[in-house]
Amino acid sequence: MWYAYPMDSKNLSQYKTELEKQKANLLEQIASHSTPEIMGNDVDSGDEETDEAEEQGNRLAIAQGLREDLTEIETALEKIQRGTYGICERCGKTIETEVLATAPESAMCRACKQIS
Ligand SMILES: [Zn+2]
Repeated sequence: MWYAYPMDSKNLSQYKTELEKQKANLLEQIASHSTPEIMGNDVDSGDEETDEAEEQGNRLAIAQGLREDLTEIETALEKIQRGTYGICERCGKTIETEVLATAPESAMCRACKQIS
């Protein structure tokens, strides 16, 4: 399976571990941001409704951003399985190791990232 693969399989398993760690982290954060805190029993606030609606909105916005990150990570993990990880989606070249080391979910090489 790995014969034509441009990436060192040792590096690959490191990226995979890192991505899985990030994924677990994100899932946790998403869960904490999308669950309304119904157990909150603060009665001291007069305009509680406005605050809560606003806070709920913020939380949803954050959760949305987190879900987008999660999608990127899941796509990267899928690519690892298919053997296409580390290949730029735009130009088809190998993504620089430094790029992947900083952001293992990267789908594009440095040059293409700058263009987009
Ligand atoms: Zn590229």
